[in-house]
Amino acid sequence: MAELITVLGASGSIGVSTLDIVARHPDRYRVLALTGNSRIDVLAAQCRQFQPRYAVVGSAAAASSLEPLVPPGCRVLWGEDALVEVASHPEVDTVMAAIVGAAGLVPTLAAARAGKKVLLANKESLVMAGGLFMDAVRQGGATLLPIDSEHNAIFQCLPSGYRDPGSAGVSRILLSASGGPFRRRDMASLGGVTPDEACAHPNWAMGRKISVDSATMMNKGLELIEACWLFDVPADRVEVVIHPQSVIHSLVAYVDGSVLAQLGNPDMRTPIAHAMAWPERIDAGVQPLDLVALARLDFEAPDLARFPCLALAAEAARAGRDYPAALNAANEVAVDAFLAGRLRFTDIAAVVGAVLDRWTAGEPRDLDAVQYADRLARALARQHTEALHP
Ligand code: NAD
Ligand code: MG
Repeated sequence: MAELITVLGASGSIGVSTLDIVARHPDRYRVLALTGNSRIDVLAAQCRQFQPRYAVVGSAAAASSLEPLVPPGCRVLWGEDALVEVASHPEVDTVMAAIVGAAGLVPTLAAARAGKKVLLANKESLVMAGGLFMDAVRQGGATLLPIDSEHNAIFQCLPSGYRDPGSAGVSRILLSASGGPFRRRDMASLGGVTPDEACAHPNWAMGRKISVDSATMMNKGLELIEACWLFDVPADRVEVVIHPQSVIHSLVAYVDGSVLAQLGNPDMRTPIAHAMAWPERIDAGVQPLDLVALARLDFEAPDLARFPCLALAAEAARAGRDYPAALNAANEVAVDAFLAGRLRFTDIAAVVGAVLDRWTAGEPRDLDAVQYADRLARALARQHTEALHP
């Protein structure tokens, strides 16, 4: 029997790559639901190709525009309750969680609570609510598989049945980072970079929010927090290493001196196919790695003066409680403002730093507490954004 899959965020970069894998293996996967908030034309074409039972959009207006474009067997729904419904639907086996940002939290959590196989691309949900999320995975009996290429690489380098670093003999996790488009750019010019320059990643084609996060290296900071929750390691056991070629996707160092790495061309279809088929392996349509053509692999330490967002995220990781939720919310507001031309690139870190400086920590003990921290940090971040550019 084919596995039934819901793709949250189907119209985005990860969603499109996921459906590429589904299309390569029609005997293994069938689609129950596709969701998207934008690019309704893309979502409509996906519904015609994959014939899901449900399509979910963000508003009643979007639902009315989608309805005439989908095949007869497809019901169009809208809103967060509908996302939760298709993420926890009793017939669904697997949920690809690929909504961007805090909007992914509630449906992804619902999939975990319902005991699904959760393919986690939406790192923001772990950053905001890591404790709650990991509890939901355990209590719901879900299987959590990382899609983020670094975490998928780490997962592949850990022994099967891994529980914690101590019992597995893991001494450190080495999180690789490309350094993004501005690794070598004159620092004095960073204030003037445009959204298109920030989104022009040297190695990966991704959605605009994560592309900006890669340019500030906030993405690596969010991934540091993500790694702590996924692999039950303290932040000081995770080391960020700049590796500009993005061929080694991350590494695990063991107490005996061994270091295991996972390599491959930078193509998200590899981690997606790995997680979809795990523990088996399937063709992902990815070009084989040519080490001789590549010739060299370089490494350097990250420059925290150039990338203050990475330092802010590391501080939030160490501070714990709801600091990471505040960091994430402030960053989402600042990145939105930057993409809309209302904030300079270098002021993204200024806004996030200002919110964290004034943050009075709370305990993210339930979803309400996390959402309260998220709303509060957004309100503070908007004030700082306006103050910087009235
Ligand atoms: P994207 O912007 O290309 O796509 C995001 C998807 O989420 C779209 O389908 C969009 O319609 C939907 N969406 C946006 N706002 C929404 C809302 N409020 N409610 C419901 N749906 C909403 O983003 P992406 O690059 O595919 O990234 C998706 C997630 O995967 C992010 O969390 C990102 O950090 C993570 N990720 C992406 C990559 C990559 O290569 N693109 C790699 C690693 C991790
Ligand atoms: Mg990544």
